[in-house]
Amino acid sequence: MGNLLVRLPYLQFYSDKTKYAHSKLFTITTNPLYKDNKGLDIHEYEHIKQFYLMWLLSVILFYYYFPLIIILGLLTHNLLYTVSLRYRLWSEVNAYKKQMEVDNNYSLEVCAKSLVEDYGFTHLTLSAATELIEYKNNNS
Ligand SMILES: [Zn+2]
Repeated sequence: MGNLLVRLPYLQFYSDKTKYAHSKLFTITTNPLYKDNKGLDIHEYEHIKQFYLMWLLSVILFYYYFPLIIILGLLTHNLLYTVSLRYRLWSEVNAYKKQMEVDNNYSLEVCAKSLVEDYGFTHLTLSAATELIEYKNNNS
């Protein structure tokens, strides 16, 4: 199942203080210069899906013990992304896979280079990054 016709709800903002685009909680902020950039859009929307997935998982796993997770679970994606390099890598690799699928301007080389340089993965080599993005396991 590729692109759903209806998106999960999120808020879209534009700001020239953002270099390209980024996502936080259920918001995407995009530099107006990249307003119509399909690759960036799909990359950030992938983070929105991850936000909802982690919220849902948190609620499923912890609601019985801790009902307040319905509210606090909204932070799960951003918290994991901040504290766990492994989670951040999973999150970005999947976002880059989607980005490459919809936009030929983002080659494997460009995405791998960006993955290595822009996210604090100090031990990630270019060849490892290339392999991670190239690996076709997504059946979503
Ligand atoms: Zn990203």
